[in-house]
Amino acid sequence: MRIAAIALAALSAVYAARGTGAARADRVAFINARVLDDSTFVERALVVEGGRFVDADPATASRTVDLSGAFLVPPFCEAHNHNLGSADGNQEAIDRYLSEGIFYVGVLSNLPALTDPIRHTYNTPRSVDAIFLNGGLTATGGHPIRLRESLLERGLYPGFTRESLADHSYFVVDSVTDLNRKWPQIIGFRPDGIKIFLLWSEEFQRRQRDTAYFGQKGLDPTLVPQIVERAHGQGLRVFAHVESAHDFHVAVEAGVDVIAHLPGNDAPARIAAADARLAAARGVRVITTAVLIERPARKRDTTNYLAMRAAQVENLQLLRQSGVVLAAGSDETRQTSTAEIDYLRALGVFNNAALLDVWGAACASTLFPKRKLGKLRPGYEASFLALGADPLADFAATRNIRLRVKDGVELPAASAR
Ligand SMILES: [Zn+2]
Repeated sequence: MRIAAIALAALSAVYAARGTGAARADRVAFINARVLDDSTFVERALVVEGGRFVDADPATASRTVDLSGAFLVPPFCEAHNHNLGSADGNQEAIDRYLSEGIFYVGVLSNLPALTDPIRHTYNTPRSVDAIFLNGGLTATGGHPIRLRESLLERGLYPGFTRESLADHSYFVVDSVTDLNRKWPQIIGFRPDGIKIFLLWSEEFQRRQRDTAYFGQKGLDPTLVPQIVERAHGQGLRVFAHVESAHDFHVAVEAGVDVIAHLPGNDAPARIAAADARLAAARGVRVITTAVLIERPARKRDTTNYLAMRAAQVENLQLLRQSGVVLAAGSDETRQTSTAEIDYLRALGVFNNAALLDVWGAACASTLFPKRKLGKLRPGYEASFLALGADPLADFAATRNIRLRVKDGVELPAASAR
């Protein structure tokens, strides 16, 4: 309350100064707002110029937008999905994201041939900003080959055959020789990062020889350090799909940058405390994808479901306590990270401020580590959501979006559903 009063006094002082100095043509002041700053809301104006927040007197703006006491937060983000990157339903998916206040999306595998014709529909002020990792690296018979082939049969990949899905929607890398041979091709598709698949790598030898594990295996764990080295040499970060706690260990040890899942989507898995500490020390980000266990097939076995859920809670607590930065991602193509955040909220591990961070700044900086985003401060990209109520008091306020501003541009209300 005291902070709010001081901020209000400062605001009045600013208005008293109005009229001194010439207005800047490109400068917009958003006034009468409460701005999220370090987990509290502060009453102050935001001034935007050239797509950035600037440290300027609101009186010098050429235009003023009165936000009537709205609560301003950084935009939301989806760190793991596959619902963008092909023409099918593309505009609907973009509109849905913007409508939910989600401005940043990580598409952690896609088919470049389907993505190329619509790449211009992303990364503009009026669309989402997205990264695309293209086809990931797996082993013979590994994930996602089976999934890709079944989606092909369902008609999702027009113009493709089983043969042409290979070395495009995924790359089989069984050896260093394969890696060397295929690397120019992988890089030739210009991925925004390298996706690798680790699935029960503790059983790699056994599963690799057994066709019964088609789609339920991944890379030889001994190859991962070399893949990471090549990717880093090219300035590309590595995102690892993991299933087991051992996969998590392999990924962290090998030096990957982002772990795309919590382990334990089929059976409970517990991350080792030492691996969580090493992940924190190395700055490895972890994408939650916890809502994946809510699929009906996984809920059917109630005992297993509850055990997986309990392990998720332990893993999330361990990662948080260890200082690992977590980013919201659902990996559910019919949904968005809104579903993931609802689920995380129900787990009770995070308070509202932490949820806003996992969904907002922490997620955005996981996808775009070199950009200044996720904070409503001078020098940062001028993107924010104006909420009709206080999300720290009631998280449902995140559904009550009055205004969306991206790169300094107010998005049309049409993007609200
Ligand atoms: Zn995925």
